[in-house]
Amino acid sequence: MADRDYYEVLGVSRDAQADEIKKAYRKLAIQYHPDKNRGNPEAEEKFKEATEAYEVLSDAQKRQAYDRFGKAGVGAGAAGPGGFGYKAYTDFSDIFGDLGDVFSEFFGGGGGFGGGGRRGGVSRGADLRYNLEISLEDAALGKEVKIEIPRQEACDECGGSGARKGTQPTTCDTCGGVGQVRRTQGFFSISTTCPRCQGRGSIIADACPSCHGDGVLEKRRTLNLKIPPGVESGSRLKVTGEGESGRQGGPRGDLYVVTHLRRHNLFERQGNDLVLQVNIPITTGILGGEVEVPTIEGKKAKMKIPAGTESGQIFRLKGKGMPYMGGYGKGDQHVVINLKTPRNLSKRARDLVKELERELGTDSRNGSDYSRVKAGFH
Ligand SMILES: [Zn+2]
Ligand SMILES: [Zn+2]
Repeated sequence: MADRDYYEVLGVSRDAQADEIKKAYRKLAIQYHPDKNRGNPEAEEKFKEATEAYEVLSDAQKRQAYDRFGKAGVGAGAAGPGGFGYKAYTDFSDIFGDLGDVFSEFFGGGGGFGGGGRRGGVSRGADLRYNLEISLEDAALGKEVKIEIPRQEACDECGGSGARKGTQPTTCDTCGGVGQVRRTQGFFSISTTCPRCQGRGSIIADACPSCHGDGVLEKRRTLNLKIPPGVESGSRLKVTGEGESGRQGGPRGDLYVVTHLRRHNLFERQGNDLVLQVNIPITTGILGGEVEVPTIEGKKAKMKIPAGTESGQIFRLKGKGMPYMGGYGKGDQHVVINLKTPRNLSKRARDLVKELERELGTDSRNGSDYSRVKAGFH
């Protein structure tokens, strides 16, 4: 960068007033702003030069030193533009003033300057998700399960501070404990994570040997969890305060246990109802009778089959379905009848069926009729 006089750079006289200097800089900054002059190194240089000049001349003390000793007096020149590195807080809102709107677009629509940004220090722990696979029976009856979750726990050795026992972390002097620094180039102002403390806001001089300064350790925690009756696949059970440990004493996140129901070999769940197919002898369908059907609770239920029951007919066992989660009552169990046709008949059995056919008349043989397929259950 050409070593030009700061007053010359801004185009003001040596006795210019503060608002005159500000106005001059604003004009140059708008003209040479990097966002308006992409790929134009000359403009970038001009922008930096004007910014450097402004940072000195807008500060009464620095300006005085500059007037007396030149750039050596303000430590510039040697440091060059890099000397404007990280600054904790440079409030540019007074410069922007009514130009705020114009500049907000440079920063992607606001939040670019004056805002607090994300703060380091205390924060709430992350939520955890745990996928729990359970059987339909357990979903029906509810169950207490033991789950083991790997999660971050505060380090016992240092009490979560990350500093060696007996020492304390100190506030980061680069960011003043905020965890963010504002890098400024004139109107251009970007918040970045503090490079010294990595956003923690504090510095640990002597790290805890147990957690290496993290303050947390990955541990496995065992929890007893009550699965309420009626859970479905995808039910989310919230366990408050059992998520990850918060940072620097912040509250814990929550744990969400998401249930997944294993496919049952007999029952199909449809909402809170259960569906089961029962295969019964064709003679029971013809003559009627009584069958035993399994239920989800384990006890078999007796069911009457009326004479003349057809394949595909559905019977309902009231209240033998799944319980309503967090409510009262239960769904039903639907029993779909399937009549088994016997095979490999003995000669006598065959003769008897032929006799039955004769007895029932030709209708039973040629009397096929048609009907629409019953829509499956639901
Ligand atoms: Zn810091
Ligand atoms: Zn520790």
